[in-house]
Amino acid sequence: MSVDSIVQDLLGRHDEILERLCEFLRIPSVSTDPAFAEGMRDAQQFLLSWLKSMGLSDVQLLDGGGHPAVYGAWHGAPGKPTVLIYGHYDVMPPDPVEAWLTPPFEPAIRDGRLYARGASDVKGSTVIALEVVAAFLKKQGGCPVNIKIFLEGEEETSSPSLRTIVDRFGTLLQADAMISADGGRASPVIPTINMGSRGLVELEFSLRTADKDVHSGRYGGAIRNATHEMARIIASLHDEHGAITIPALMAGVPQPSHEMRAQANGLPFDGARFISEVGAQAHGEPGFSVREQLTLRPSLDVNGIWGGYTGPGTKTIVPNSAYAKLSLRIAPGQDPRQASEAIKAHLRANCPPGVDLSIVDPETGSSAFSLPTRHPLVVSARKVLREATGQEPVLVRLGPTVPITAIFREMLGVETLMFGFNLPDEDIHAPNEFFHIASIAQGLSAWARLLGELGQCDRDSFRSAANEAEEASLAAQSLTA
Ligand SMILES: [Zn+2]
Repeated sequence: MSVDSIVQDLLGRHDEILERLCEFLRIPSVSTDPAFAEGMRDAQQFLLSWLKSMGLSDVQLLDGGGHPAVYGAWHGAPGKPTVLIYGHYDVMPPDPVEAWLTPPFEPAIRDGRLYARGASDVKGSTVIALEVVAAFLKKQGGCPVNIKIFLEGEEETSSPSLRTIVDRFGTLLQADAMISADGGRASPVIPTINMGSRGLVELEFSLRTADKDVHSGRYGGAIRNATHEMARIIASLHDEHGAITIPALMAGVPQPSHEMRAQANGLPFDGARFISEVGAQAHGEPGFSVREQLTLRPSLDVNGIWGGYTGPGTKTIVPNSAYAKLSLRIAPGQDPRQASEAIKAHLRANCPPGVDLSIVDPETGSSAFSLPTRHPLVVSARKVLREATGQEPVLVRLGPTVPITAIFREMLGVETLMFGFNLPDEDIHAPNEFFHIASIAQGLSAWARLLGELGQCDRDSFRSAANEAEEASLAAQSLTA
C-alpha cells in the first residue's frame, strides 16, 4: 500500500478524526493548576488507551516527579530511521472564562474553526500526528520508519521535570530525529519550515518595604510604598523605545549574522498589519525589523504585577509588598543561565536601601534552538511541502519556545523539526482559542508524506548532518572568540 492510499484513507475519515480531537479537547488537562489534577489523569488515560489500541508497544507513563509523559513505540522497520514524535497533552488555564463565547472545554465549530482550549496549542496537531501513525499501522501493517511517541504533560509550565524524564528514560527516547507537533506554521498561504525557536527564562520577585500595610494618612509621605518601588524597578528594564536596558544581559546576545537577518526577512510579512491586528502600536528595539525582533532578539516582559488594594471601593493604605512575574525570550546563541543571572543582578542593583527583594528562580531556562539547513528533516519537509503546495517553502524561525527542542539536542543529540499545523491567528493562551479545521486535512496529508520521505533516508545522514552543524558552530565560535 502506498503513502497515497494512506492519505486517501485519512482524508476519508476526516469527520471521525475531528470527533476524536473533540473528545480529547473535552478533557480539561490544565497542568499548572492542581484543581485540574483529574483532567490531567483523564488525558493520560485517554492517550494510554489510544496508543495501546493502535498497536504500539512499551506504552507507559514516564514519570519524572511532576506530570508524567505518555510514551509508546513501534519497532517494526529494522534498518530504517527511528523518529520520535513529540506533542503535549497539557493546556493553559482557560481564564478569563467569562471572555469565551462558548465554554473552553466544550469544543464548538463556527466558521470553519474549532474553538476550545488546547485546540491550536497543541491537541489539534498532536491528534494529526497520532492519527497518521495509527493509519499506517492499521492499513499497511507498519510505518515507513520506526516510531517513538512522547507526549509531555508539562509543556505549558516550562517542562520542569523533562530533564529528569530524559535522564531516567534516555534509552527509551533514543532516536535518529524528532518531529514535533508543537511549533506551527508562520503563514496560511506560504509554506514554511521552522528552522529554530527562541528560548525562555522565567523569574518571580517581590519587594517588601515594611512589616505590614499601614494607614496612608499616618505614614504616607514618610516611608516607601512597595508598589512605587516595583514600578521604578520595572521601568528600569527598558528604554523609551522598548529596548532592554540591562547591559550585562545584552552583552550575552550575539549579533545576528547577515544570513540570519536575510532569512528572518525572507518571509513576506506585513509587520504593521501584524501589529495593528491586535490593536497595538509598534514598539521595540530600534534597528531591527518586526520579524527580527520576534525571532532573533531577546524580549523581556513583565507578565503580571500585583500589590496593595485592588478590590472594590477605596482603601487608603501604603502597601508593604509588591510582586511581579517576568519572562525573557532568549535569542539564538544566548546562554539562559547567564541571562537569568544578569536580570537578578540588575534587580538587586536597582533595589533601593530599606527595601527587601526576594527572587524565585524556577531554573527552568531553555536555550534557543536551530536546526541545521542540510538536515534530512529539512530536506524531506521541503520536498513534501513543495509537492503539496507547488511553492518553494520559506525557511523561518519562530518567536515562541518549544523547550524540548533544545533539551533533546543537548541530552540526546537529537534534532527536531517543528511540524505543527497551527497558525499564528489562533489565539493560543487566550480566550476563544481555535484551530482552523482546514488544517486537519493539510496536516494529515503532510505528516503521512513526511514519514514516507523519512523512510527513504539513510540513518547515517541524520547523525552526519547534526555533526556538520556542530562543527560549523564551533568554528563560528572560535572566529568570534
Ligand atoms: Zn502553549
